[in-house]
Amino acid sequence: MVKKNQNPHRINYQEGIINDCLLQVRNSSESDEPNLKAVWTVSIRAKDSQQFIKFIREVVQDYDPIAFQHIKRIKKGEQSGFLSVIVCSKLLAEQQDDFLELMKQSTFDFFDVSDKFEVPSTAPSTKELSLEWSELYWPLVWRGNPNDQIMNDYVFDMPFIKKMLDAISTEAAEQAKSSSNHPVVSAFVNPKTKKVIFSTDSRCSSSPLEHSIMQGIRSVAASEHKRQLIEDKQTEDETYLCLNFDVYTTHEPCSMCCMALIHSRIKRCIFLQPMRQTGALESQSGDGYCMHNNHALNSKYEAFRWIGPEYPVPKIASGICC
Ligand SMILES: [Zn+2]
Repeated sequence: MVKKNQNPHRINYQEGIINDCLLQVRNSSESDEPNLKAVWTVSIRAKDSQQFIKFIREVVQDYDPIAFQHIKRIKKGEQSGFLSVIVCSKLLAEQQDDFLELMKQSTFDFFDVSDKFEVPSTAPSTKELSLEWSELYWPLVWRGNPNDQIMNDYVFDMPFIKKMLDAISTEAAEQAKSSSNHPVVSAFVNPKTKKVIFSTDSRCSSSPLEHSIMQGIRSVAASEHKRQLIEDKQTEDETYLCLNFDVYTTHEPCSMCCMALIHSRIKRCIFLQPMRQTGALESQSGDGYCMHNNHALNSKYEAFRWIGPEYPVPKIASGICC
Protein backbone atom coordinates (compact mmCIF):
# COMPACT_ATOMS: atom_id res chain seq x y z
CA MET A 1 0.00 0.00 0.00
CA VAL A 2 1.46 3.36 -1.07
CA LYS A 3 1.04 6.36 1.20
CA LYS A 4 -1.03 9.13 -0.36
CA ASN A 5 1.87 11.59 -0.50
CA GLN A 6 4.16 9.00 -2.12
CA ASN A 7 1.81 8.07 -4.93
CA PRO A 8 3.66 8.45 -8.27
CA HIS A 9 0.49 9.79 -9.92
CA ARG A 10 -1.24 13.12 -9.45
CA ILE A 11 -4.61 12.21 -8.01
CA ASN A 12 -7.59 14.49 -7.62
CA TYR A 13 -9.45 12.42 -5.04
CA GLN A 14 -12.56 14.53 -5.01
CA GLU A 15 -13.14 14.48 -8.76
CA GLY A 16 -11.64 11.02 -9.22
CA ILE A 17 -9.10 12.14 -11.84
CA ILE A 18 -5.61 10.66 -12.24
CA ASN A 19 -2.86 12.76 -13.90
CA ASP A 20 -5.54 15.10 -15.32
CA CYS A 21 -6.44 12.52 -17.95
CA LEU A 22 -8.05 9.41 -16.50
CA LEU A 23 -11.48 9.72 -14.90
CA GLN A 24 -12.60 7.06 -12.44
CA VAL A 25 -16.11 6.03 -13.45
CA ARG A 26 -18.09 5.98 -10.21
CA ASN A 27 -21.48 4.72 -9.29
CA SER A 28 -22.67 7.99 -7.77
CA SER A 29 -26.03 6.62 -6.63
CA GLU A 30 -24.45 3.73 -4.79
CA SER A 31 -21.89 5.51 -2.63
CA ASP A 32 -24.59 7.37 -0.75
CA GLU A 33 -26.92 4.41 -0.27
CA PRO A 34 -26.51 2.70 3.11
CA ASN A 35 -27.43 -0.72 1.68
CA LEU A 36 -28.77 -1.85 5.06
CA LYS A 37 -28.22 -5.32 6.47
CA ALA A 38 -29.88 -6.82 9.56
CA VAL A 39 -27.66 -7.74 12.51
CA TRP A 40 -27.89 -9.72 15.74
CA THR A 41 -27.42 -7.60 18.84
CA VAL A 42 -27.27 -8.51 22.54
CA SER A 43 -26.68 -6.72 25.85
CA ILE A 44 -23.61 -7.60 27.88
CA ARG A 45 -22.19 -6.38 31.17
CA ALA A 46 -19.67 -3.57 30.68
CA LYS A 47 -17.03 -5.58 32.55
CA ASP A 48 -17.24 -8.31 29.87
CA SER A 49 -16.27 -6.08 26.95
CA GLN A 50 -12.77 -7.58 26.58
CA GLN A 51 -14.22 -11.09 26.53
CA PHE A 52 -16.68 -9.96 23.88
CA ILE A 53 -13.92 -8.51 21.68
CA LYS A 54 -11.94 -11.74 22.01
CA PHE A 55 -15.03 -13.76 21.04
CA ILE A 56 -15.59 -11.59 17.94
CA ARG A 57 -11.95 -11.92 16.93
CA GLU A 58 -11.77 -15.68 17.41
CA VAL A 59 -15.23 -16.92 16.50
CA VAL A 60 -17.04 -14.40 14.29
CA GLN A 61 -14.80 -12.04 12.34
CA ASP A 62 -13.36 -14.41 9.75
CA TYR A 63 -16.74 -15.86 8.84
CA ASP A 64 -19.06 -12.86 8.67
CA PRO A 65 -19.55 -11.57 5.09
CA ILE A 66 -19.82 -8.01 6.49
CA ALA A 67 -16.56 -6.61 7.88
CA PHE A 68 -18.10 -3.92 10.15
CA GLN A 69 -14.86 -1.91 10.05
CA HIS A 70 -16.87 1.28 9.67
CA ILE A 71 -19.21 0.43 12.57
CA LYS A 72 -18.73 0.71 16.31
CA ARG A 73 -19.63 -2.74 17.48
CA ILE A 74 -20.17 -1.58 21.05
CA LYS A 75 -22.43 1.22 22.25
CA LYS A 76 -23.77 2.28 25.63
CA GLY A 77 -26.67 0.16 26.81
CA GLU A 78 -29.99 1.48 28.04
CA GLN A 79 -29.26 0.26 31.57
CA SER A 80 -26.24 1.57 33.43
CA GLY A 81 -23.39 -0.95 33.59
CA PHE A 82 -24.54 -2.62 30.37
CA LEU A 83 -23.45 -2.35 26.73
CA SER A 84 -25.39 -2.98 23.57
CA VAL A 85 -23.24 -4.89 21.04
CA ILE A 86 -23.42 -6.13 17.45
CA VAL A 87 -22.39 -9.78 17.30
CA CYS A 88 -22.78 -10.58 13.61
CA SER A 89 -24.87 -10.00 10.52
CA LYS A 90 -27.89 -12.15 9.74
CA LEU A 91 -25.96 -13.29 6.70
CA LEU A 92 -23.83 -15.34 9.10
CA ALA A 93 -26.67 -16.62 11.30
CA GLU A 94 -30.00 -16.45 9.57
CA GLN A 95 -32.28 -17.92 12.25
CA GLN A 96 -32.30 -17.33 16.00
CA ASP A 97 -31.38 -21.00 16.56
CA ASP A 98 -28.26 -20.58 14.41
CA PHE A 99 -27.36 -17.48 16.36
CA LEU A 100 -27.82 -19.15 19.76
CA GLU A 101 -25.72 -22.07 18.56
CA LEU A 102 -22.94 -19.62 17.69
CA MET A 103 -23.27 -17.91 21.09
CA LYS A 104 -22.64 -21.22 22.88
CA GLN A 105 -18.97 -20.48 22.24
CA SER A 106 -19.12 -17.20 24.16
CA THR A 107 -17.55 -16.94 27.61
CA PHE A 108 -19.77 -14.13 28.94
CA ASP A 109 -23.44 -13.69 29.86
CA PHE A 110 -25.68 -12.03 27.34
CA PHE A 111 -29.26 -10.74 27.37
CA ASP A 112 -31.90 -9.16 25.09
CA VAL A 113 -31.12 -11.08 21.88
CA SER A 114 -32.52 -9.01 19.02
CA ASP A 115 -32.47 -8.84 15.23
CA LYS A 116 -34.36 -5.56 14.93
CA PHE A 117 -31.36 -3.35 14.02
CA GLU A 118 -30.22 -2.75 10.47
CA VAL A 119 -26.83 -1.17 9.79
CA PRO A 120 -25.11 0.21 6.64
CA SER A 121 -23.05 -2.57 5.07
CA THR A 122 -20.68 -0.13 3.35
CA ALA A 123 -18.91 2.96 4.64
CA PRO A 124 -20.33 6.36 3.62
CA SER A 125 -18.34 8.74 1.41
CA THR A 126 -18.52 11.85 3.61
CA LYS A 127 -18.22 12.69 7.29
CA GLU A 128 -21.63 14.39 7.21
CA LEU A 129 -23.24 11.21 5.95
CA SER A 130 -21.37 9.20 8.55
CA LEU A 131 -22.89 11.37 11.29
CA GLU A 132 -26.32 11.17 9.70
CA TRP A 133 -26.22 7.36 9.47
CA SER A 134 -24.90 7.15 13.04
CA GLU A 135 -28.05 8.95 14.17
CA LEU A 136 -30.35 6.91 11.99
CA TYR A 137 -29.00 3.37 12.37
CA TRP A 138 -26.07 2.69 14.69
CA PRO A 139 -22.88 4.62 15.62
CA LEU A 140 -20.27 4.55 12.82
CA VAL A 141 -16.52 5.21 12.81
CA TRP A 142 -15.34 7.81 10.28
CA ARG A 143 -12.10 6.66 8.65
CA GLY A 144 -12.17 8.95 5.63
CA ASN A 145 -13.74 8.34 2.25
CA PRO A 146 -13.14 4.65 1.41
CA ASN A 147 -12.78 5.61 -2.25
CA ASP A 148 -9.61 7.63 -1.49
CA GLN A 149 -7.89 4.41 -0.50
CA ILE A 150 -9.19 2.62 -3.59
CA MET A 151 -7.88 5.42 -5.83
CA ASN A 152 -4.56 5.44 -4.05
CA ASP A 153 -4.14 1.68 -4.54
CA TYR A 154 -4.72 1.67 -8.31
CA VAL A 155 -1.68 0.75 -10.38
CA PHE A 156 -1.25 2.43 -13.78
CA ASP A 157 1.35 1.80 -16.47
CA MET A 158 0.70 5.14 -18.18
CA PRO A 159 3.03 4.67 -21.19
CA PHE A 160 1.34 1.32 -21.94
CA ILE A 161 -2.16 2.75 -21.46
CA LYS A 162 -1.32 5.58 -23.89
CA LYS A 163 0.08 3.12 -26.42
CA MET A 164 -3.13 1.07 -26.31
CA LEU A 165 -5.41 4.11 -26.59
CA ASP A 166 -3.37 5.41 -29.50
CA ALA A 167 -3.63 2.02 -31.21
CA ILE A 168 -7.42 1.72 -30.90
CA SER A 169 -7.97 5.37 -31.86
CA THR A 170 -5.84 4.95 -35.00
CA GLU A 171 -7.51 1.68 -35.94
CA ALA A 172 -11.00 3.19 -35.44
CA ALA A 173 -10.12 6.03 -37.85
CA GLU A 174 -9.00 3.39 -40.34
CA GLN A 175 -12.25 1.42 -39.88
CA ALA A 176 -14.33 4.55 -40.42
CA LYS A 177 -12.70 4.96 -43.84
CA SER A 178 -12.61 1.38 -45.02
CA SER A 179 -15.39 -0.61 -43.35
CA SER A 180 -19.18 -0.65 -43.47
CA ASN A 181 -19.24 -1.67 -39.78
CA HIS A 182 -19.36 0.80 -36.89
CA PRO A 183 -15.83 2.08 -36.17
CA VAL A 184 -15.62 0.65 -32.65
CA VAL A 185 -12.29 -0.95 -31.73
CA SER A 186 -11.25 -2.81 -28.57
CA ALA A 187 -8.00 -4.25 -27.26
CA PHE A 188 -7.81 -7.11 -24.75
CA VAL A 189 -4.54 -7.33 -22.81
CA ASN A 190 -3.49 -10.56 -21.12
CA PRO A 191 -2.14 -9.59 -17.67
CA LYS A 192 0.49 -12.36 -17.61
CA THR A 193 1.91 -12.26 -21.12
CA LYS A 194 0.91 -8.68 -22.10
CA LYS A 195 -0.24 -10.19 -25.38
CA VAL A 196 -2.80 -7.89 -27.03
CA ILE A 197 -5.81 -9.06 -29.01
CA PHE A 198 -7.58 -6.38 -31.05
CA SER A 199 -11.20 -6.67 -32.08
CA THR A 200 -13.59 -4.68 -34.22
CA ASP A 201 -17.33 -4.43 -34.64
CA SER A 202 -18.69 -6.71 -37.35
CA ARG A 203 -22.44 -6.58 -36.90
CA CYS A 204 -23.08 -5.39 -40.46
CA SER A 205 -21.02 -8.16 -42.03
CA SER A 206 -22.18 -10.95 -39.69
CA SER A 207 -24.58 -11.15 -36.71
CA PRO A 208 -26.17 -8.06 -35.07
CA LEU A 209 -24.62 -9.13 -31.75
CA GLU A 210 -21.05 -8.92 -33.02
CA HIS A 211 -20.08 -5.79 -31.08
CA SER A 212 -16.33 -5.30 -30.79
CA ILE A 213 -16.26 -6.34 -27.10
CA MET A 214 -18.13 -9.58 -27.88
CA GLN A 215 -15.73 -10.24 -30.74
CA GLY A 216 -12.79 -9.60 -28.42
CA ILE A 217 -14.05 -12.04 -25.77
CA ARG A 218 -14.54 -14.65 -28.48
CA SER A 219 -11.03 -14.08 -29.86
CA VAL A 220 -9.49 -14.41 -26.39
CA ALA A 221 -11.44 -17.66 -25.91
CA ALA A 222 -10.22 -19.03 -29.24
CA SER A 223 -6.62 -18.06 -28.54
CA GLU A 224 -6.74 -19.55 -25.01
CA HIS A 225 -8.32 -22.73 -26.33
CA LYS A 226 -5.53 -23.10 -28.89
CA ARG A 227 -2.87 -22.52 -26.25
CA GLN A 228 -4.44 -25.07 -23.92
CA LEU A 229 -4.49 -27.65 -26.69
CA ILE A 230 -0.80 -27.06 -27.32
CA GLU A 231 0.14 -27.08 -23.64
CA ASP A 232 -2.38 -29.83 -22.91
CA LYS A 233 -3.41 -28.42 -19.56
CA GLN A 234 -6.04 -26.30 -17.93
CA THR A 235 -5.47 -24.50 -14.67
CA GLU A 236 -8.14 -23.23 -12.33
CA ASP A 237 -7.61 -19.62 -13.45
CA GLU A 238 -8.75 -20.47 -16.89
CA THR A 239 -12.37 -21.08 -15.94
CA TYR A 240 -12.70 -17.35 -16.67
CA LEU A 241 -11.04 -16.72 -19.98
CA CYS A 242 -10.42 -13.00 -19.51
CA LEU A 243 -9.53 -13.21 -15.82
CA ASN A 244 -7.79 -9.95 -14.81
CA PHE A 245 -7.53 -8.72 -18.41
CA ASP A 246 -7.40 -5.00 -19.14
CA VAL A 247 -9.78 -3.96 -21.89
CA TYR A 248 -9.41 -0.75 -23.92
CA THR A 249 -12.26 0.34 -26.14
CA THR A 250 -13.08 3.40 -28.21
CA HIS A 251 -16.74 3.82 -27.16
CA GLU A 252 -18.49 3.21 -23.83
CA PRO A 253 -19.83 -0.35 -24.07
CA CYS A 254 -23.55 -1.19 -24.09
CA SER A 255 -25.23 -3.23 -21.36
CA MET A 256 -24.81 -6.55 -23.19
CA CYS A 257 -21.06 -5.98 -23.57
CA CYS A 258 -20.63 -4.66 -20.01
CA MET A 259 -22.39 -7.75 -18.69
CA ALA A 260 -20.22 -10.03 -20.83
CA LEU A 261 -17.16 -8.32 -19.30
CA ILE A 262 -18.56 -9.04 -15.82
CA HIS A 263 -18.96 -12.72 -16.70
CA SER A 264 -15.44 -12.96 -18.11
CA ARG A 265 -13.95 -11.40 -14.92
CA ILE A 266 -11.83 -8.65 -16.45
CA LYS A 267 -9.92 -6.33 -14.11
CA ARG A 268 -10.29 -2.98 -15.82
CA CYS A 269 -11.99 -1.25 -18.75
CA ILE A 270 -10.72 2.06 -20.16
CA PHE A 271 -12.76 3.79 -22.85
CA LEU A 272 -12.55 7.03 -24.81
CA GLN A 273 -16.01 8.20 -25.82
CA PRO A 274 -19.02 8.17 -23.47
CA MET A 275 -22.27 6.99 -25.08
CA ARG A 276 -24.96 8.85 -23.13
CA GLN A 277 -27.89 6.96 -24.60
CA THR A 278 -26.58 3.42 -24.86
CA GLY A 279 -23.57 3.18 -22.51
CA ALA A 280 -23.82 1.12 -19.32
CA LEU A 281 -20.82 2.25 -17.24
CA GLU A 282 -21.19 5.94 -16.37
CA SER A 283 -23.95 7.03 -14.04
CA GLN A 284 -24.98 9.69 -16.62
CA SER A 285 -25.20 7.07 -19.39
CA GLY A 286 -28.14 4.85 -20.30
CA ASP A 287 -30.17 3.89 -17.24
CA GLY A 288 -27.30 4.88 -14.92
CA TYR A 289 -26.86 1.25 -13.96
CA CYS A 290 -23.02 1.43 -13.66
CA MET A 291 -22.69 -2.20 -14.51
CA HIS A 292 -18.99 -2.45 -13.58
CA ASN A 293 -19.74 -1.50 -9.99
CA ASN A 294 -23.25 -2.53 -9.11
CA HIS A 295 -23.80 -4.36 -5.84
CA ALA A 296 -26.62 -6.38 -7.38
CA LEU A 297 -24.02 -8.21 -9.49
CA ASN A 298 -21.63 -10.75 -8.03
CA SER A 299 -18.48 -9.35 -9.59
CA LYS A 300 -17.00 -5.95 -10.42
CA TYR A 301 -14.31 -4.33 -12.53
CA GLU A 302 -12.57 -0.97 -12.58
CA ALA A 303 -13.75 1.51 -15.21
CA PHE A 304 -12.07 4.70 -16.42
CA ARG A 305 -12.63 7.20 -19.20
CA TRP A 306 -9.71 8.99 -20.84
CA ILE A 307 -10.64 12.68 -20.73
CA GLY A 308 -7.59 14.12 -22.51
CA PRO A 309 -7.88 15.31 -26.16
CA GLU A 310 -5.11 13.06 -27.54
CA TYR A 311 -7.11 10.16 -28.91
CA PRO A 312 -10.05 11.17 -31.11
CA VAL A 313 -12.65 8.59 -32.10
CA PRO A 314 -15.04 8.55 -35.06
CA LYS A 315 -18.53 9.76 -34.22
CA ILE A 316 -21.25 7.15 -33.97
CA ALA A 317 -25.02 7.83 -33.94
CA SER A 318 -26.17 8.24 -30.32
CA GLY A 319 -28.67 5.36 -30.46
CA ILE A 320 -26.08 2.75 -31.49
CA CYS A 321 -25.06 0.20 -28.84
CA CYS A 322 -21.29 -0.19 -28.78
ZN1 LIG B 1 -22.11 -3.78 -27.05
